[in-house]
This record gives sequence, structure tokens and C-alpha cells, in this order.
Amino acid sequence: MIWTTELREAMRAWRQLERAVQECIVSSCGPICADCPTPCCREEICCETRESAWLRNVRNAGTGTSLKYDARKGWITPQGCALRTGRPTVCYGFFCDSVRRWFDPVREYALTTAGALMNFVGRRALGDRSLIALTENAELARLRPERLMKRIDMAWVVLESCRRTLETGVLSAEDAAILARVASMPARPDRAKSA
Ligand code: SF4
Ligand code: SF4
Repeated sequence: MIWTTELREAMRAWRQLERAVQECIVSSCGPICADCPTPCCREEICCETRESAWLRNVRNAGTGTSLKYDARKGWITPQGCALRTGRPTVCYGFFCDSVRRWFDPVREYALTTAGALMNFVGRRALGDRSLIALTENAELARLRPERLMKRIDMAWVVLESCRRTLETGVLSAEDAAILARVASMPARPDRAKSA
């Protein structure tokens, strides 16, 4: 049996975290992306949701199976992405130069760390393979849900630090130590504060 209570709980926790990460990013980048003349969504990115067993199940748990994938546009709609949850992790982890330039280095670090959280939770979920890279339901049965839950719990702590840093623009020593669990702050001697 694949869907043990523990695995279902881990999926529910993933979806909650994903929504929170999404809200954090949209509230930070939304105004910039809304005016973007060349949005970065691509069908080639959307299609990872079809190959990944985890993302397929997350999507179906959130929206049922009624959503139809468009062979040309993937999940792209005039209103944005059709998926509330179950998006590829790169959809949260990519920030173009226009977005990056908008933020001062401290906020940029907090934003990119928040964007890396879903990847952080899923990395090395089964041996060296990430959760998203698993293509068969049978592989999900070999996951260790308690390990996923630990990562998700840690991701919430990191997300809280990211939110605080994005709001204040100040990276306290405590938050710096927390963010460093997911990503190091890049050295940017060439970057002046631009926000
Ligand atoms: S991340 Fe950059 S390229 Fe993508 S939609 Fe936002 S502004 Fe456009
Ligand atoms: S955010 Fe949605 S529409 Fe955009 S690339 Fe990701 S899955 Fe596709």
C-alpha cells in the first residue's frame, strides 16, 4: 500500500508549505511580475508536473483530476498558473535579473532562500534522487515520510525568518543562522542597494 497515513500527512504538509512559499513570493514579486512583458512560464517547465509522481499526486489532491493539461501552454492561463499546488520547484526557485535588481541584497537573499525551500524539502528523498525526480507511484512507497516531515518543519522555521527579513530588510544574526541551513548568502561586492 503506497498511501499510508504518514505519507498522506507528509503530502498535506507539503501542500500547506507550498501555498505559504507561493504567497511569500507573490507578495514580494507580484507587482514586478504583473508588468512583465516576457513572463518566464514555459510549457517545457510545466511538463515536469506530468513526469513527477509526487507532483502529480499533490496536484490531484489539491484540484482533483478535472484540470486539463494543454499540450502547447501547459498550465499557463491568462490569469497565471492554473495550479494552486504541485508546481515544479523551479517555479519558486527562479528569479530573473529584473526581480533580483528590485531588491537590496539582504532581501534578495531572503527571497531566494524562500524560493529554494520546496527544493530543500525534496532533496535526496530517495538515495540521491529528489522527491520531484521520482516518476512512479511505487517509488513513493519507499519514501521515509518522517524525514520529509522533519524537513517541512524546518522549512517553516526558515520561511518565517525569510518573511521577517523581507519585511524589515534587516538580517539578524539569528535569522542569518537559520537561512544558512538552506542557502549561503552570496558575496555581492558589486551590488549596491537598489530597492
Ligand atoms: S520572474 Fe522575471 S521573467 Fe519571470 S514573470 Fe517575473 S519579472 Fe517576468
Ligand atoms: S508556474 Fe505554473 S504555469 Fe508557470 S511554469 Fe510553473 S507550472 Fe507552468
